[in-house]
Amino acid sequence: MRDRDDFSAEVKDKLARRVGFHCSNPTCQKITSGPQIDPAKAINLGIAAHITAAAPGGPRYDANVAPEQRAAIDNGIWLCWNCSHLIDSDVLRYPANLLWQWKKDAEARALAELEGNPSGPDAPTAAKPQTLHVDPTTIYINPDNPPVAAIRELLEAVFFNAPDDLHRLCLQDKLFRPVVKQFGSNYGLDDMIDNLISYCFQYILWNDLLTMVADKNQAQFDRFAPKLQA
Ligand SMILES: [Zn+2]
Repeated sequence: MRDRDDFSAEVKDKLARRVGFHCSNPTCQKITSGPQIDPAKAINLGIAAHITAAAPGGPRYDANVAPEQRAAIDNGIWLCWNCSHLIDSDVLRYPANLLWQWKKDAEARALAELEGNPSGPDAPTAAKPQTLHVDPTTIYINPDNPPVAAIRELLEAVFFNAPDDLHRLCLQDKLFRPVVKQFGSNYGLDDMIDNLISYCFQYILWNDLLTMVADKNQAQFDRFAPKLQA
């Protein structure tokens, strides 16, 4: 019996390729591959990290996950050497949910670049490092205890002058379109926010909600970010 459910070489290779050999940590995004002096060789500084650990006692180990799932591509995330150590040194700060989100976003960035659309919201060429803006995907919301009061305050601050904008934004986003059906014709901003919050509870869409709000008003989002993170 194996002690560790390690990834196959094929899975590691696929993980790296699916993110264009970039680190999947949104605040890092470092390239992990390059040439060696020997023209036949390449440097690899990337690691196929386990989202839930490969062996009991490891970071984020989940006994309910079957061994073959643990070694499956879904359980891996491509990171640079540094970030792979970072995520294992503080598992409360870097829980599995957050890593899955990183992975999803890193693959989306790679696809946007492939399609020649590097101007996506968090493309590597965006001016993110030069600004002090908070990336909503880096905020970890505990689904069992989301900071509802702060989220409500943020939504009120962004939309108090224009509740119709919230209605329109939800309508434009396929994740949030279903919630619009729950809005009554006489709904005020508070009623819409109530529905939106219970919808996020139901489908665990906190990060998607925050991303939508940050796109609308990054300055307000940045102002509330410390409260959301608390
Ligand atoms: Zn990294």
